[in-house]
Amino acid sequence: MPTQLDSLAAAGWLNFADAVLLVDDAGQIVLLNRRAQEMFEMDADAWRGAPASDFYRALAARCASDADLARQFENHAQRAAELPRLEFTLQTPTLRVLETQWFCLAPIAPRACAYGVMWRDLTRAQATEQMQKQLLATVSHELRTPLASIKGFATTLLRQDVRWDDATQREFLRIIEEESNRLEELIDNLLDMSQMEAGALRIQREPVQLRGLLREAVENAQRRTEAHWFVVDLPSELPRVWADPRRIRQVLNNLLENAIKYSPDGGEISVRCEVEATRVIVSIADRGVGIPPALRARVFDPFFQVDGSSTRGVGGSGLGLAIVKGIIAAHHGAIWVEPMPERGSVFRFTLPIVTDAALTETDKLA
Ligand code: ADP
Repeated sequence: MPTQLDSLAAAGWLNFADAVLLVDDAGQIVLLNRRAQEMFEMDADAWRGAPASDFYRALAARCASDADLARQFENHAQRAAELPRLEFTLQTPTLRVLETQWFCLAPIAPRACAYGVMWRDLTRAQATEQMQKQLLATVSHELRTPLASIKGFATTLLRQDVRWDDATQREFLRIIEEESNRLEELIDNLLDMSQMEAGALRIQREPVQLRGLLREAVENAQRRTEAHWFVVDLPSELPRVWADPRRIRQVLNNLLENAIKYSPDGGEISVRCEVEATRVIVSIADRGVGIPPALRARVFDPFFQVDGSSTRGVGGSGLGLAIVKGIIAAHHGAIWVEPMPERGSVFRFTLPIVTDAALTETDKLA
C-alpha cells in the first residue's frame, strides 16, 4: 500500500533541483531524490527504508571536518519544525560546501515526526564571491598604480611654472605610454576572464605554421629585455597545427613575458617544439625563481600569485596563466609546468596537428 509520504515523494520531490531526503515518522528513509543521489553518489533504492541515522553516519564519514557531524545532523532533525540550517563541507574528489536545511512535513503529512532535509550546493556561489573579492582587490591595486603614475606625470607636464627640456618631456611621455599599455593589458585580461567565466570565449581555428608565430613572439620578447637571451630550437619538419593565431600569439607573449619577469637576474630562455603522433608540444623554459612544487598546479587558478603583489617587485594581476589555460583548453590542448633541473620553470602546452583527413573534411565544409 503506498503511504501518503510515498505519493508525496512521487509527486514532485524526485526531480527537485536541490538534493532532498524525506524521512517518515519511524525515522526511516522514504525518498532520496535524483539530485541527492548524484551529489552523494548513493543509490536511492539501497537506502529506501533504512534508518536516517545510518544515512547521517554515512554522510558524516565523507565530510572534511572532524566535528561530530552525525550527532549534529540528528539534533537538527529533531528540531525540524524550527527549520534549522547547517553548513558543512563534503569531501567528494573535490570539496563541496553544502547548506543543509531540515523542515517539518507535519503541515502536509499528518504524522508529526515526518520531516525532510534539503541540501543546496554553495560551492559555486562561494567561489564566485571569492572571485569578486579578488577582482575588487586586483582592480583597486593593479589599476590604481598605473593610473596614479599616468596622472602624476601628466599633471607634472602641464605645470605652468616649470619648463621641462625635451629629453625630460619625452621620458615622462614614455612612462605615460608604458603605464597606459599596462592598464590596457589588465582591462583586456579582465574582459577575457569574464568571457571565460561565462563560457563565451570564442576561438577561430585554422591550420597554422607555428614557426612564424614562435619567431615573431621571441623577437618581441627580445626587444623588451637586455638581460635575457633566447634560444629557439625547432625541428626541421614542423607540421601545421589547428590554432587561432591571435590567441596563440597571446599565449606565447604571456609565457615569454612571465619567463622574463620571473627570472630577474636575466639568463637564457629557451623555446622548443617536439612533434608527437597527434600533437606538437611547445616548451618555454627559464632559469628564474621557479615555483614551489606544492603551488605548481595552482598557478593556473585565476588571481593566484606565488607571492602576493604587495611582497613582490613585479606587477601583474594573476590572471595571465588562467587565461592561457582557458585558451589552450579551447584548442583541445593541455598545459602544465615542470621544474627545470637546476633552477627555473618550463611551461609546456600542446596543440593538435592538422591531419590530411581533417583538412579534407574542412575543405568539404568550406
Ligand atoms: P601574474 O600577473 O602575477 O604574472 P600569471 O597568471 O601570469 O600572473 O602567473 C601566476 C603566478 O605564477 C605568478 O604570480 C607567479 O607567482 C607564478 N609564475 C608564472 N610564471 C612563472 C615563471 N615563469 N616562473 C616562476 N613563477 C611563475
